[in-house]
Amino acid sequence: MRITSVETSVVALPFTMGGPHPLFAGRPWEKLEILLVRVETEDGLVGWGEAFGHAAIPATKAALDTIVAPLVLGRDARAIETLTRELMHATHLLGRNGAHLYAVSGVEIALWDLLGKRAGQPVWALLGGRERASLPAYASLLSYGNDLGLVARNTADARRVGYRHIKLHEVTREAVLVAKEAAPDAAIMLDVNCAWMPPVARDMAASLADDGLYWLEEPVWPPEDSHGLAGLRRHGIPLSAGENTAGMFGFKALVEAGAIDIAQPSVTKVGGIGEMLRVFRLCQAHGVEVVPHCPYFGPGFVATLHIAAALCERPLVEVLWLEMEANPFDPWVRARDGHVAVPKGPGLGCDPDPAILARYLAAPPVRTEAKVAA
Ligand SMILES: [Mg+2]
Repeated sequence: MRITSVETSVVALPFTMGGPHPLFAGRPWEKLEILLVRVETEDGLVGWGEAFGHAAIPATKAALDTIVAPLVLGRDARAIETLTRELMHATHLLGRNGAHLYAVSGVEIALWDLLGKRAGQPVWALLGGRERASLPAYASLLSYGNDLGLVARNTADARRVGYRHIKLHEVTREAVLVAKEAAPDAAIMLDVNCAWMPPVARDMAASLADDGLYWLEEPVWPPEDSHGLAGLRRHGIPLSAGENTAGMFGFKALVEAGAIDIAQPSVTKVGGIGEMLRVFRLCQAHGVEVVPHCPYFGPGFVATLHIAAALCERPLVEVLWLEMEANPFDPWVRARDGHVAVPKGPGLGCDPDPAILARYLAAPPVRTEAKVAA
């Protein structure tokens, strides 16, 4: 079943986050942007994917429109493993991580949506999972720039609406203590986004050792310093990482260094659902838990629901703590009482609402089509 078109579009959604909007990659972050990938096959069936994301969207979109889309036109949409393998090999000189790989991820997710639609099965069923109505979620608070009042207020608010696990994007022990006080019966995680070189990270891990963190995420700069990360495990805090890790072999380096307790592959970054599967198998073989990274709100988020439902022993879905005005993939991208519902429809089970999609389009979609013989 040949692929006849690949279309990219960006929706920009107004949102609030319980505090001032932060900078993201040095730019003001005023709207929540989602890069959508729509793949159509010759029988008119349509699949939806999402490619990472945020400030990288212009670069990822260029990679999609100019490199990845032309390479997949005319290919069999059902042969996902073969297609992605050949696509990655054909372009590996362009880089094994970053915008180009995010672009591949977006198309790959759309192919799984198509596969499920064609089979009349949800993706979790294709992955061998059983039906689950919902999964527990955690509130992933955005950075409040160490404003402890905002950390406390938003932690308490997240607990009040039903989250039992709450993650901070702050870099101080004080923020952790304030959050624990604001929600004493919640599990608190701290994500510092690679803030510290190993010597500082070791001091910070020692100071946090008795604070009962559920996990400490990406404490070491740079993220590929697997041995620097491994050096922190003696402090006894569960360590998590992986959102910046390049594919299964990147995770192999982390796992073999004994660097992590929890792997966090990101489906819109790592290469799509197939590469997620490879990371899961690797981690299973080494006793490392997988809790996917998914701070996004389109088909990538929904793909993560399917993956977590099918493959995670203790699913815990990351939901950014923010409020969107509307989202084309409502209601599947929102948590309720600390849980997220899992779609039951074929494929990802969540085609976008065309009216909401049209209302928030940031620019006209770009379509790459197969040439039709005259
Ligand atoms: Mg993170």
